[in-house]
Amino acid sequence: MSYVDEVLEIVQKKNADQPEFLQAVTEVLDSLRPVIDANEELYKKNAILERITEPDRQFMFRVPWVDDNGQVQVNRGFRVQFNNAIGPYKGGLRLHPSVNLGIIKFLGFEQIFKNSLTTLPIGGGKGGSDFDPKGKSDREIMAFCQSFMTELCKYIGADVDVPAGDIGTGAREIGFMFGQYKRIRGSYEGVLTGKGLTYGGSLVRTEATGYGLLYLTQELMKCHGESMEGKTVCVSGAGNVAIYAIQKAHQLGAKAVTCSDSTGWVYDPDGIDVALLKEVKEVKRARLTEYAAARPNAEYHEGRGVWQIKCDIALPCATQNELLLDDAKQLVANGCKAVCEGANMPTTLDATKYLQENGVWFVGGKAANAGGVATSALEMSQNSERLSWSFEEVDAKLQNIMVTIYHNIDDAAKRYGVEGDYVAGANIAGFEKVVEAMLAQGVC
Ligand code: NDP
Repeated sequence: MSYVDEVLEIVQKKNADQPEFLQAVTEVLDSLRPVIDANEELYKKNAILERITEPDRQFMFRVPWVDDNGQVQVNRGFRVQFNNAIGPYKGGLRLHPSVNLGIIKFLGFEQIFKNSLTTLPIGGGKGGSDFDPKGKSDREIMAFCQSFMTELCKYIGADVDVPAGDIGTGAREIGFMFGQYKRIRGSYEGVLTGKGLTYGGSLVRTEATGYGLLYLTQELMKCHGESMEGKTVCVSGAGNVAIYAIQKAHQLGAKAVTCSDSTGWVYDPDGIDVALLKEVKEVKRARLTEYAAARPNAEYHEGRGVWQIKCDIALPCATQNELLLDDAKQLVANGCKAVCEGANMPTTLDATKYLQENGVWFVGGKAANAGGVATSALEMSQNSERLSWSFEEVDAKLQNIMVTIYHNIDDAAKRYGVEGDYVAGANIAGFEKVVEAMLAQGVC
């Protein structure tokens, strides 16, 4: 039995009640087989896989808070500190009723490799609670956040563990948590990222994931002898990632012609009007029908259908499992050259395989959407320096990071004989750096 299979068996026995965690470990270790097989003796002797699949530590705690009726409510809080071989633990706080230990462990495990890929010194962690922010008043949100941080503050710190936002945790929640940390610890430090600009947040964080996606896509095209100039781009989604992806695509000379939301999609052959899209989605929080109504040549369609439009580049930026096998077939038939994921896991496994087998350059979200977490790490740097960098400075660093990520994953894929497989390349590049640090630091 190979070392990977031996460890998978152990992980399955130890974590039988955590299906999401088991799935993540299986997927990651499977894709790492070329590098693990090539170094089996060294890794096995040092129990690298046993160590990397076991969190450094995990905290579970009671979060009591009082609702608007005076009733005491109790939620469960989590923080999993998975691996800090290359830097302080870093990863978001998810507030959603579905949250449990297995889900936080799955997210924390994946975060190790994603953070490593950013080229910046950040380890992997994740946290959250089964608290549901939907329908809660601002006062209830504050009560929950303060109680959550009252316990969490014992385990985090600017050089220890730096949580960020995630589903359910936006600027409002980060603000309440930061205030409570400061109050209890008496320390003004960069303990959270995603902060407001008046108290240590970073410029470009809002644009970072969409812009970063385009910087990486541009480099991918360049390395295949193509430019962004004049290319037609199909984008899905109409949220934070999609809006800034569309904006940067236009700035780079391409034309983004589609966007979508959870009810329908738009085809605008003249190119998506970003100012109008922002007005409709960010200000009015309305449906895309309003966008189409204001643009004479734009078409609105109910349901899904973005990927049937002929394009050179496809950028799924909405949600998980939104690019299916039939969509992949349509993209290939239409001559699409590249698919880069702005969202997390938007392409199903069979669609990914089809795209790769048919010569489409496919870069998965772990690398392509890493601009968000990379800019969070730049927020940490600015906080440590007690300085705020200009928009141009952060943007230039982001661009440099995304170009480097592309070359790192391309190079890793080539070294292990899977040239052009950027999914394997991303896992390998992220893993190699963490393992090198673990080996250098001895048994810990
Ligand atoms: P937002 O909530 O801002 O936007 C999501 C968009 O996708 C919305 O327009 C939403 O529509 C649309 N959408 C949701 N479900 C569907 C669906 N089934 N079909 C079509 N459209 C749909 O999220 P973000 O832009 O921040 O995130 C998008 C993705 O990117 C997520 O997978 C996220 O995890 C990932 N990501 C985000 C990062 C960031 O920095 N923001 C960083 C890394 C990854 P509606 O307007 O109707 O709600």
